[in-house]
Amino acid sequence: MIEKDYLIVPHRDKDIFVRGIIPDLNVRFLFANIKETLIEIRNLQNLSIQCEALLGETILGAFLLTTREIKQEHEVVGIHIEGDGAVKKILSFASSYGGVRGIIVPENAEWEGELYHGKGKGLLQVNKFKKVSQKIYSSAVEMRELPIAKNIEEYISKSDQINAFIGIFSFFDKANPLVPVEVYGYFFEALPNIQFEQLDKLADFIHKTNMVDFLKNIFGDQAYEQRKNITQHFSVQILQSGSIFFHCDCNSEKIENVLFTLGEKEVSELLEKQGQIEVTCEFCKKKYIFTKNDILRLFKENE
Ligand SMILES: [Zn+2]
Repeated sequence: MIEKDYLIVPHRDKDIFVRGIIPDLNVRFLFANIKETLIEIRNLQNLSIQCEALLGETILGAFLLTTREIKQEHEVVGIHIEGDGAVKKILSFASSYGGVRGIIVPENAEWEGELYHGKGKGLLQVNKFKKVSQKIYSSAVEMRELPIAKNIEEYISKSDQINAFIGIFSFFDKANPLVPVEVYGYFFEALPNIQFEQLDKLADFIHKTNMVDFLKNIFGDQAYEQRKNITQHFSVQILQSGSIFFHCDCNSEKIENVLFTLGEKEVSELLEKQGQIEVTCEFCKKKYIFTKNDILRLFKENE
Protein backbone atom coordinates (compact mmCIF):
# COMPACT_ATOMS: atom_id res chain seq x y z
CA MET A 1 0.00 0.00 0.00
CA ILE A 2 1.23 3.45 -0.81
CA GLU A 3 0.46 6.06 1.78
CA LYS A 4 -1.21 9.25 0.67
CA ASP A 5 1.37 11.89 0.23
CA TYR A 6 -0.26 15.31 0.16
CA LEU A 7 1.06 17.83 -2.29
CA ILE A 8 3.52 19.88 -0.36
CA VAL A 9 4.09 23.34 -1.67
CA PRO A 10 7.37 24.81 -0.47
CA HIS A 11 7.15 28.55 -1.07
CA ARG A 12 3.62 29.70 -1.48
CA ASP A 13 4.41 33.22 -2.63
CA LYS A 14 6.89 32.26 -5.29
CA ASP A 15 6.74 30.50 -8.62
CA ILE A 16 6.72 26.85 -7.76
CA PHE A 17 6.69 23.37 -9.20
CA VAL A 18 5.80 19.93 -7.93
CA ARG A 19 6.99 16.76 -9.62
CA GLY A 20 5.91 13.24 -8.84
CA ILE A 21 4.17 10.05 -9.85
CA ILE A 22 0.70 8.62 -9.45
CA PRO A 23 1.43 4.91 -8.87
CA ASP A 24 -2.24 3.89 -9.26
CA LEU A 25 -2.21 5.21 -12.81
CA ASN A 26 1.39 4.61 -13.81
CA VAL A 27 1.93 8.22 -14.76
CA ARG A 28 4.45 10.87 -14.03
CA PHE A 29 3.35 14.47 -13.48
CA LEU A 30 4.69 17.99 -13.20
CA PHE A 31 2.65 21.00 -12.09
CA ALA A 32 4.07 24.52 -12.22
CA ASN A 33 3.19 28.19 -12.22
CA ILE A 34 5.07 31.38 -13.07
CA LYS A 35 4.28 35.00 -12.26
CA GLU A 36 7.12 36.68 -10.34
CA THR A 37 9.71 35.37 -12.81
CA LEU A 38 7.72 36.85 -15.68
CA ILE A 39 7.59 40.27 -14.01
CA GLU A 40 11.38 40.13 -13.78
CA ILE A 41 11.76 39.19 -17.45
CA ARG A 42 9.20 41.78 -18.58
CA ASN A 43 11.06 44.52 -16.73
CA LEU A 44 14.43 43.43 -18.12
CA GLN A 45 13.22 43.25 -21.70
CA ASN A 46 10.37 45.78 -21.87
CA LEU A 47 7.83 43.27 -23.10
CA SER A 48 4.31 44.06 -24.20
CA ILE A 49 1.76 42.25 -22.07
CA GLN A 50 0.87 39.80 -24.85
CA CYS A 51 4.56 39.06 -25.45
CA GLU A 52 4.99 38.49 -21.72
CA ALA A 53 2.13 35.97 -21.69
CA LEU A 54 3.26 34.18 -24.87
CA LEU A 55 6.85 33.99 -23.67
CA GLY A 56 5.59 32.82 -20.28
CA GLU A 57 3.70 29.95 -21.93
CA THR A 58 6.77 28.96 -23.94
CA ILE A 59 9.06 29.09 -20.89
CA LEU A 60 6.61 27.00 -18.89
CA GLY A 61 6.34 24.60 -21.84
CA ALA A 62 10.12 24.11 -21.82
CA PHE A 63 10.05 23.57 -18.09
CA LEU A 64 7.25 21.01 -18.35
CA LEU A 65 9.36 19.04 -20.83
CA THR A 66 12.03 18.60 -18.16
CA THR A 67 9.65 16.33 -16.29
CA ARG A 68 10.92 13.35 -18.17
CA GLU A 69 14.55 13.59 -17.21
CA ILE A 70 14.26 13.31 -13.46
CA LYS A 71 17.47 11.29 -13.25
CA GLN A 72 19.52 13.85 -15.11
CA GLU A 73 20.57 16.31 -12.51
CA HIS A 74 21.29 19.36 -14.54
CA GLU A 75 19.38 19.12 -17.74
CA VAL A 76 18.18 22.05 -19.80
CA VAL A 77 15.34 21.98 -22.32
CA GLY A 78 15.04 24.73 -24.92
CA ILE A 79 12.10 25.56 -27.14
CA HIS A 80 12.81 27.53 -30.29
CA ILE A 81 9.84 28.90 -32.22
CA GLU A 82 9.96 30.58 -35.63
CA GLY A 83 6.53 31.95 -36.49
CA ASP A 84 4.79 34.00 -39.16
CA GLY A 85 2.58 36.10 -36.85
CA ALA A 86 3.28 39.43 -35.16
CA VAL A 87 5.93 37.50 -33.21
CA LYS A 88 8.77 36.12 -35.34
CA LYS A 89 10.86 34.25 -32.84
CA ILE A 90 10.66 32.88 -29.30
CA LEU A 91 13.53 31.23 -27.43
CA SER A 92 13.02 29.69 -24.03
CA PHE A 93 15.23 27.61 -21.77
CA ALA A 94 14.41 25.80 -18.56
CA SER A 95 16.53 23.61 -16.35
CA SER A 96 15.13 20.72 -14.36
CA TYR A 97 15.95 22.47 -11.09
CA GLY A 98 13.83 25.54 -11.98
CA GLY A 99 16.15 28.14 -13.58
CA VAL A 100 14.51 29.67 -16.67
CA ARG A 101 15.16 32.37 -19.28
CA GLY A 102 13.75 33.46 -22.62
CA ILE A 103 13.38 36.11 -25.31
CA ILE A 104 10.67 37.05 -27.76
CA VAL A 105 11.15 39.02 -30.99
CA PRO A 106 9.92 41.70 -31.43
CA GLU A 107 9.48 42.30 -27.72
CA ASN A 108 6.72 44.90 -28.09
CA ALA A 109 4.44 43.05 -30.54
CA GLU A 110 0.67 43.40 -30.18
CA TRP A 111 -2.07 41.61 -32.06
CA GLU A 112 -5.78 40.94 -32.23
CA GLY A 113 -7.48 37.68 -31.31
CA GLU A 114 -6.20 34.80 -29.22
CA LEU A 115 -2.77 34.75 -27.65
CA TYR A 116 -1.51 31.98 -29.94
CA HIS A 117 -2.31 34.02 -33.06
CA GLY A 118 0.72 36.11 -32.10
CA LYS A 119 3.13 33.34 -33.10
CA GLY A 120 1.03 32.10 -36.02
CA LYS A 121 2.36 28.96 -37.68
CA GLY A 122 5.89 27.89 -38.51
CA LEU A 123 8.44 25.68 -36.84
CA LEU A 124 8.85 24.43 -33.29
CA GLN A 125 12.16 22.98 -32.26
CA VAL A 126 12.98 21.27 -28.98
CA ASN A 127 16.62 21.11 -27.88
CA LYS A 128 18.10 19.36 -24.90
CA PHE A 129 21.37 20.32 -23.30
CA LYS A 130 23.54 18.86 -20.62
CA LYS A 131 25.67 21.03 -18.37
CA VAL A 132 27.42 23.80 -20.25
CA SER A 133 25.53 24.32 -23.51
CA GLN A 134 26.30 20.84 -24.73
CA LYS A 135 23.48 20.03 -27.10
CA ILE A 136 22.57 16.36 -26.92
CA TYR A 137 19.29 16.24 -28.72
CA SER A 138 17.34 18.33 -31.21
CA SER A 139 14.08 17.73 -32.98
CA ALA A 140 11.78 20.03 -34.95
CA VAL A 141 8.15 19.73 -35.96
CA GLU A 142 5.76 21.82 -37.97
CA MET A 143 3.99 24.31 -35.68
CA ARG A 144 0.32 24.81 -36.47
CA GLU A 145 -1.60 27.95 -35.52
CA LEU A 146 -2.77 26.50 -32.21
CA PRO A 147 -2.02 27.12 -28.54
CA ILE A 148 1.56 26.37 -27.42
CA ALA A 149 0.41 23.46 -25.24
CA LYS A 150 -1.21 21.84 -28.30
CA ASN A 151 1.97 22.39 -30.36
CA ILE A 152 4.05 20.72 -27.66
CA GLU A 153 1.60 17.84 -27.33
CA GLU A 154 1.85 17.28 -31.09
CA TYR A 155 5.63 17.44 -30.87
CA ILE A 156 5.65 14.75 -28.16
CA SER A 157 3.32 12.42 -30.01
CA LYS A 158 5.28 12.81 -33.28
CA SER A 159 8.80 12.62 -31.94
CA ASP A 160 8.44 10.24 -29.01
CA GLN A 161 5.19 8.38 -29.67
CA ILE A 162 4.21 8.26 -26.03
CA ASN A 163 0.99 9.26 -24.34
CA ALA A 164 1.19 12.65 -22.70
CA PHE A 165 -1.27 15.33 -21.68
CA ILE A 166 -0.15 18.90 -21.38
CA GLY A 167 -2.05 22.05 -20.45
CA ILE A 168 -0.77 25.63 -20.24
CA PHE A 169 -3.06 28.47 -19.21
CA SER A 170 -2.15 32.14 -19.06
CA PHE A 171 -4.13 34.94 -17.45
CA PHE A 172 -3.64 38.59 -18.25
CA ASP A 173 -5.62 41.72 -18.95
CA LYS A 174 -4.68 43.42 -22.19
CA ALA A 175 -6.47 46.60 -21.06
CA ASN A 176 -4.64 46.63 -17.76
CA PRO A 177 -0.96 45.73 -18.25
CA LEU A 178 -0.15 46.46 -14.62
CA VAL A 179 -1.94 43.33 -13.49
CA PRO A 180 0.75 40.61 -13.45
CA VAL A 181 0.56 37.82 -16.00
CA GLU A 182 0.08 34.39 -14.46
CA VAL A 183 0.77 31.12 -16.23
CA TYR A 184 -0.16 27.67 -14.95
CA GLY A 185 0.75 24.34 -16.45
CA TYR A 186 0.43 20.60 -16.02
CA PHE A 187 2.09 17.68 -17.69
CA PHE A 188 1.11 14.02 -17.34
CA GLU A 189 3.21 11.39 -19.02
CA ALA A 190 2.45 7.69 -19.25
CA LEU A 191 5.14 5.45 -17.82
CA PRO A 192 6.21 2.57 -20.08
CA ASN A 193 4.18 -0.11 -18.29
CA ILE A 194 0.88 1.78 -18.28
CA GLN A 195 -2.28 -0.27 -18.85
CA PHE A 196 -5.07 0.84 -21.10
CA GLU A 197 -7.53 1.24 -18.18
CA GLN A 198 -5.06 3.45 -16.35
CA LEU A 199 -4.63 5.70 -19.36
CA ASP A 200 -8.39 5.82 -19.66
CA LYS A 201 -8.75 6.84 -16.02
CA LEU A 202 -6.20 9.62 -16.44
CA ALA A 203 -7.90 10.97 -19.58
CA ASP A 204 -11.21 10.81 -17.75
CA PHE A 205 -9.79 12.72 -14.77
CA ILE A 206 -8.38 15.49 -17.01
CA HIS A 207 -11.62 15.67 -18.97
CA LYS A 208 -13.86 15.93 -15.90
CA THR A 209 -11.66 18.23 -13.84
CA ASN A 210 -11.47 21.96 -14.25
CA MET A 211 -7.70 21.88 -14.64
CA VAL A 212 -7.32 25.63 -14.19
CA ASP A 213 -9.00 25.47 -10.78
CA PHE A 214 -7.06 22.33 -10.00
CA LEU A 215 -3.74 24.10 -10.59
CA LYS A 216 -4.78 27.32 -8.93
CA ASN A 217 -5.77 25.33 -5.88
CA ILE A 218 -2.39 23.69 -5.64
CA PHE A 219 -0.53 26.97 -5.83
CA GLY A 220 -3.02 29.48 -4.51
CA ASP A 221 -3.70 30.93 -1.08
CA GLN A 222 -6.01 28.10 -0.14
CA ALA A 223 -3.38 25.49 -0.98
CA TYR A 224 -3.35 23.89 2.42
CA GLU A 225 -7.12 23.42 2.50
CA GLN A 226 -7.19 22.15 -1.05
CA ARG A 227 -4.56 19.48 -0.85
CA LYS A 228 -6.94 16.89 0.50
CA ASN A 229 -9.42 17.57 -2.27
CA ILE A 230 -6.76 17.17 -4.91
CA THR A 231 -5.33 13.96 -3.62
CA GLN A 232 -8.64 12.33 -2.85
CA HIS A 233 -8.70 11.09 -6.44
CA PHE A 234 -5.40 9.22 -6.38
CA SER A 235 -2.43 8.43 -4.23
CA VAL A 236 0.37 10.76 -5.15
CA GLN A 237 4.06 10.36 -4.58
CA ILE A 238 6.05 13.59 -4.63
CA LEU A 239 9.54 13.24 -6.07
CA GLN A 240 10.65 16.85 -6.04
CA SER A 241 9.33 20.33 -5.46
CA GLY A 242 10.97 23.72 -5.71
CA SER A 243 10.90 27.24 -7.11
CA ILE A 244 11.05 28.50 -10.65
CA PHE A 245 13.33 31.52 -10.96
CA PHE A 246 15.03 33.65 -13.57
CA HIS A 247 18.50 32.41 -14.32
CA CYS A 248 20.88 33.44 -17.06
CA ASP A 249 24.09 31.47 -17.31
CA CYS A 250 25.96 33.91 -19.52
CA ASN A 251 29.55 34.76 -18.59
CA SER A 252 32.52 36.42 -20.26
CA GLU A 253 33.93 33.08 -21.38
CA LYS A 254 30.79 32.31 -23.38
CA ILE A 255 30.73 35.76 -24.95
CA GLU A 256 34.42 35.33 -25.84
CA ASN A 257 33.53 32.10 -27.58
CA VAL A 258 30.91 33.90 -29.64
CA LEU A 259 33.45 36.58 -30.63
CA PHE A 260 35.99 33.91 -31.45
CA THR A 261 33.49 32.15 -33.72
CA LEU A 262 32.89 35.42 -35.57
CA GLY A 263 36.55 35.37 -36.55
CA GLU A 264 39.48 37.73 -36.07
CA LYS A 265 38.81 39.75 -39.22
CA GLU A 266 35.23 40.65 -38.36
CA VAL A 267 36.01 41.37 -34.71
CA SER A 268 38.97 43.61 -35.65
CA GLU A 269 36.70 45.57 -38.00
CA LEU A 270 34.19 46.12 -35.19
CA LEU A 271 37.03 47.18 -32.93
CA GLU A 272 38.26 49.72 -35.53
CA LYS A 273 34.81 51.25 -35.77
CA GLN A 274 33.91 51.43 -32.09
CA GLY A 275 37.21 51.46 -30.21
CA GLN A 276 35.97 48.67 -27.96
CA ILE A 277 33.49 45.86 -28.31
CA GLU A 278 30.32 45.94 -26.30
CA VAL A 279 28.14 42.83 -26.19
CA THR A 280 24.81 42.78 -24.37
CA CYS A 281 23.33 39.44 -23.33
CA GLU A 282 19.90 39.33 -24.93
CA PHE A 283 18.41 37.35 -22.02
CA CYS A 284 19.55 39.29 -18.93
CA LYS A 285 20.81 42.50 -20.59
CA LYS A 286 24.16 42.26 -18.86
CA LYS A 287 26.86 44.23 -20.73
CA TYR A 288 30.25 42.78 -21.56
CA ILE A 289 32.97 45.16 -22.69
CA PHE A 290 36.11 44.03 -24.49
CA THR A 291 39.04 46.38 -25.01
CA LYS A 292 41.56 46.09 -27.82
CA ASN A 293 43.93 44.26 -25.46
CA ASP A 294 41.19 41.76 -24.49
CA ILE A 295 40.60 40.99 -28.15
CA LEU A 296 44.32 40.64 -28.94
CA ARG A 297 44.70 38.25 -26.02
CA LEU A 298 41.60 36.26 -27.06
CA PHE A 299 42.88 35.51 -30.55
CA LYS A 300 46.45 34.98 -29.38
CA GLU A 301 45.47 32.49 -26.70
CA ASN A 302 43.35 30.48 -29.09
CA GLU A 303 45.81 30.41 -31.96
ZN1 LIG B 1 22.77 36.83 -19.58
